[in-house]
Amino acid sequence: MKQVAIIGAGLAGLSTAYHLGKRHNNNYIVFEKEGTVGGLCRTVNSKGFLFDYTGHLLHLKKDYTKKLVGRLLKGKLRKIYRNSWIFSKGVYTRYPFQENTYGLPPETVRECVTGFIKSFRSRKKSAKNQSFYDWILEHFGVGIAKHFMVPYNTKMWARHPEELTTLWLGGYIPKPTIREVADGALFDRKSGLGYNAFFYYPEKGGIQVLPDALASACGNLKLNTVVTGIDTKKRKVFFSGKGAGASGEACYDALVSSVPLREFILKIVRNVPEKVRKAARGLRYNSVLNINFGIGRKRISDRHWIYFPEDEFIFYRAGFHMNFSGRLVPSGTSSIYTETAYKPGDRPKILNNRKNIIKKVKKDLIRAGVLNNRDKALVTRVFDIEYAYVIHDKNYETNIKIIRDFLEKNNIHAIGRYGNWEYSAMEEAILAGRDTAKRIGSN
Ligand SMILES: Cc1cc2nc3c(=O)[nH]c(=O)nc-3n(C[C@H](O)[C@H](O)[C@H](O)COP(=O)(O)OP(=O)(O)OC[C@H]3O[C@@H](n4cnc5c(N)ncnc54)[C@H](O)[C@@H]3O)c2cc1C
Repeated sequence: MKQVAIIGAGLAGLSTAYHLGKRHNNNYIVFEKEGTVGGLCRTVNSKGFLFDYTGHLLHLKKDYTKKLVGRLLKGKLRKIYRNSWIFSKGVYTRYPFQENTYGLPPETVRECVTGFIKSFRSRKKSAKNQSFYDWILEHFGVGIAKHFMVPYNTKMWARHPEELTTLWLGGYIPKPTIREVADGALFDRKSGLGYNAFFYYPEKGGIQVLPDALASACGNLKLNTVVTGIDTKKRKVFFSGKGAGASGEACYDALVSSVPLREFILKIVRNVPEKVRKAARGLRYNSVLNINFGIGRKRISDRHWIYFPEDEFIFYRAGFHMNFSGRLVPSGTSSIYTETAYKPGDRPKILNNRKNIIKKVKKDLIRAGVLNNRDKALVTRVFDIEYAYVIHDKNYETNIKIIRDFLEKNNIHAIGRYGNWEYSAMEEAILAGRDTAKRIGSN
């Protein structure tokens, strides 16, 4: 029987433990530095307002995950059709922008539509190593690039799309036809385009109920325990917790890590060759400051989320938890979250002053007509998410290959959005856990 050490009780780590326990005859132990499971899929209760870490919506594409999540949550899952918008030029237009310019000033609509048609006609096979910026121009044209794609993505990634490649794209950005773009300029109509046209969300309890359900089917969770070192030669994990007997070391036959890869290589694994450390130092990511308000007014919006491409708004997106599930707020109230991205190590000054940033966020929400001057924040909760989005820059592939070769040689399974250093979502984290358990079980 193998002894498996799993670092992190986010969805990837918990799913590994769950599947090891269900299907494979292995002993495992899960080390989690926080006092609760879930990682980024945690929900915090502030005086009856339940806040996820920004929006955490389930985009389940595979039957396997649909069935598993449905079973874990005993069917208490809502299927919700997206109602999301963009606020720019002082008006609200429907998401996705590229397909819905109706309502924007006529000159903007003209630039977007003519630019799209021109790009559509001149589209050729994409060049290898194309930047995200070139991809935007090629697929949407200069108008849509100028009025949404470039400013929005610059805010969200905290860098210009020229600095990104297209490796991460997958199906994340929907591409309309000329007919759809033309219709969307002439009429206001709902769009079903894109991977997030609908989503699933727990009926109550916030997204936390999902990791909680997984955890309740797993044993051997060591909470409040930080893994501080790995000796790959001796196959040992060193950990540190509070109180007597909470710190020590454990031997493993197989090791699974969902710790952000950069940190894992630079701070946890011992005796890493300099070439691999250098590659890890080259991994880029952004951080997100997530501000949540509980508001003392009923149903301040019926939208799910709104994109803000313009610079005068400090956040790139705002959303409304209570529209994912009415049970996330006390009766007669509402809640909002906002997301502001920044480069780690180059954080704008305003983000360091809690009072000022909250004031600015409220002012911007009033300017967008989301809040009014009389609205009272009953609760304010700020989450600073250090590892938010992995950046696929031009060095990504070279760096990640060096690191993954090293991990493979040392029999380490690094999984999840940050563990494997990828752009992925909750469904992929669950699947990565399942597949890792299978690999370990069959080795
Ligand atoms: C702003 C934002 C919005 C998102 N929205 C969505 C969405 O709407 N839908 C969706 O599907 N996905 C969304 N995601 C992605 C989703 O959060 C991730 O894909 C998923 O949570 C990754 O799970 P994980 O287990 O890989 O990582 P994590 O959740 O980060 O788990 C890693 C765990 O490891 C623990 N840990 C780290 N270091 C140590 C250590 N040294 N010792 C012990 N424990 C340690 C951490 O505390 C954490 O619990 C979003 C992500 C962000 C940042």
